[in-house]
Amino acid sequence: MPEHTSSIVNDSLDALYDDGSFLPDLKDGTRKKAFTSLVSILSTPNSVNKSFLRIALENGKVVRIPAFRVQHNNILGPYKGGIRFHESVSEDEVTNLASLMTLKNALHQVPFGGGKGGVVINPREYEDKDLHLICKKYVQYFSEIIGPDKDIPAPDVGTGDREMDWMMGEYKSIRPGSNYRGSFTGKSVINGGSLGRREATGKGVYFTFRYMLHDFVNGQQKWLEERENIFAKTALDHSDKDLTMAIQGFGNVGSVTALEAHKCNYLNNKIVAVSDRNVTLYNSDGLDIPALVKATSNHNGDLPVNEDELAAADIKAKVMDRDDVLSLNVDVLVLAALEDQVHKDNVGDVKARIIVEGANSPVTGKADKILSDQGVIIIPDILANAGGVIVSYFEWLQGRETQFYTEEQVITKQFDKMKETFDTVLPQFFGGPHPLRQNCYIHAVSKLSTVLYRQGKLY
Ligand code: GLU
Repeated sequence: MPEHTSSIVNDSLDALYDDGSFLPDLKDGTRKKAFTSLVSILSTPNSVNKSFLRIALENGKVVRIPAFRVQHNNILGPYKGGIRFHESVSEDEVTNLASLMTLKNALHQVPFGGGKGGVVINPREYEDKDLHLICKKYVQYFSEIIGPDKDIPAPDVGTGDREMDWMMGEYKSIRPGSNYRGSFTGKSVINGGSLGRREATGKGVYFTFRYMLHDFVNGQQKWLEERENIFAKTALDHSDKDLTMAIQGFGNVGSVTALEAHKCNYLNNKIVAVSDRNVTLYNSDGLDIPALVKATSNHNGDLPVNEDELAAADIKAKVMDRDDVLSLNVDVLVLAALEDQVHKDNVGDVKARIIVEGANSPVTGKADKILSDQGVIIIPDILANAGGVIVSYFEWLQGRETQFYTEEQVITKQFDKMKETFDTVLPQFFGGPHPLRQNCYIHAVSKLSTVLYRQGKLY
């Protein structure tokens, strides 16, 4: 587990250790021993699986591609988490992401543990046939450790329903007669996927933000006025002033978050900037988000990169450098690209007072501390981006029952589940001393610790 995650987990365990009402049967020496076990269990993965996939490429070359599946913890249920295709994938990164899945599932009461997979490739550089073979080989190599009641992968950066369909197809061939529908989630709807799964993460990211800034504080004028913090100020201001927003990343998460923010009538959102791997597009009067979504889908997933492309799509925006999105003078910055985007060297440029983590780990530990000390509100990944895994859980359930919900039912169930978490975590956050991330961790760690204790794993 990287230093940042493990230090918040350890701080959470310290807070729980000092709280005598938490696991009160554990006293003195026994308490100490149990908490020492907890530190070691939660800070290390149960297993790290690595392979080199041997792939005969369409261009005639034969390559060996590193691939991982890390299983962090399964005390709450089968391991669960995406498979990422990206050239920066490493054992450390996948291990960190697997531990975040354990915490995310515990926080939202999803009955799964935490896992993650990764393949070290840039999928844009491969032919479709190569990608198909990579998916099949991944399943062949890890077939002993994955499965509907063991470890259930899903899409992540660089993968989507096409890859999950291929992988499930391979799993079905290797394990005929198994409950193969539950072996992967994030599949296409025709292949047993859930309606609403593709949009679930982005919708959940925006819903988390809206719930905090609007629903949770609605009608609490006095409560807000008594509080001298950035959140209270922004929540009070939003009703008569624009809430300016910049969104880093315009893929499956960022583009859906942008559309939701654009459509929302509860807050005066004005999305002034979006970015992707090539550019930042800026318009101080607000960007035409539906037109941008249409333009990217006609452009291989990329935003328009120059005046000509913008004119062809009838979009008014200034073209800026990719990383300029981070330093714009906006109220809200949504980070929906990759991890480690705000770090010690650029944190000083960030002007937004509210940051929403759509991606996993987009703010490094050092930057997180600096921003939190300045009173910046960071809505953390494990709270904000859990929509994907929550709907994955619904997909897994629907596959078991072979009964499928309507899209509306899925969205309602997703938001209800997220609301339950917000209503537990937010009052503690607003009434207490810890940053929101720490509150979420305390909640997740207390659930994991209680279950570990009750299953007799701490002796
Ligand atoms: N990759 C997504 C995440 O990081 C979804 C995982 C899942 O659906 O299992 O939360």
